[in-house]
Amino acid sequence: MKVVIAEKCGFCHGVRDAINMAEKVLTQEKDVYSLGPIIHNRDEVERLAKAGLRTVDKVEEIESGTVIIRSHGAAPEQIAKLKEKGLNIVDATCGLVKRLQRIARQLEKDGYKVVIVGDENHPEMQAVVDCGKEIVVIANESDLHRLPKNSTLGVVCQTTESPDHFGKMLAAIARDNFSELKVVNTLCREAIKRQESAVRLCKQVDIMFVLGGLQSANTHRLAELCKKHNSETFHLENWNGLDKDLLIGKNVAGVTAGASTPEWVIDEFVKNLAAFGYGSG
Ligand code: SF4
Repeated sequence: MKVVIAEKCGFCHGVRDAINMAEKVLTQEKDVYSLGPIIHNRDEVERLAKAGLRTVDKVEEIESGTVIIRSHGAAPEQIAKLKEKGLNIVDATCGLVKRLQRIARQLEKDGYKVVIVGDENHPEMQAVVDCGKEIVVIANESDLHRLPKNSTLGVVCQTTESPDHFGKMLAAIARDNFSELKVVNTLCREAIKRQESAVRLCKQVDIMFVLGGLQSANTHRLAELCKKHNSETFHLENWNGLDKDLLIGKNVAGVTAGASTPEWVIDEFVKNLAAFGYGSG
């Protein structure tokens, strides 16, 4: 099987920094926690768990030690609780997520009703929402009824949103008769680069694989976009998740991976896929 890898895929600088920080802290400290999975990738979370990183959902589960704030960030209320408990905090929040939080706060301070285009269940969004008093998150046009009426809106988006979807939502909001809209672009260039190179590649291959955690928003976005251009697109966590029958009759496969997919998962997948049909698939 011929395998082509997307020009830009795998770890972004935000995720790489968080992993590097976790690895460093694990060599220095004994009780090390991550508030929520450090990244949305089960393989990597398991690897770090073996090195001693404990993942917890709530601050209440931590008695002492060091807590890593993942690249998605944490709600100000959670950080306040960690401080109250006297825990050592290592902040690995991505700079672009911090920027989004800062902008949302500033917009609200300036009198705008803040609207974020994104997934309200995603931890990045939950942390941003907690930065303001009444921030609204909308995913698609069916959520438009939740927009505050007769207001001036300050609109931003989840960092890993696609520019096309953000643009579509801005057009839909504008049609909804708001007299003033202030838009701040909070898209992440790293995520956009991965989307663009994935779409380019998926158009040239028989079958397209998008590797990454099933909870990973940016990986989902990649799979969604590729599916629009190549119906033979599959979102998998790793090589073990592949139904080999899918490869029958296919000659060229494309591979991309979300910003939270480690290189070793991509390498293993590509190596096995390339060997498929030659006796070791
Ligand atoms: S995808 Fe972008 S915003 Fe998210 S962690 Fe990576 S660099 Fe930061």
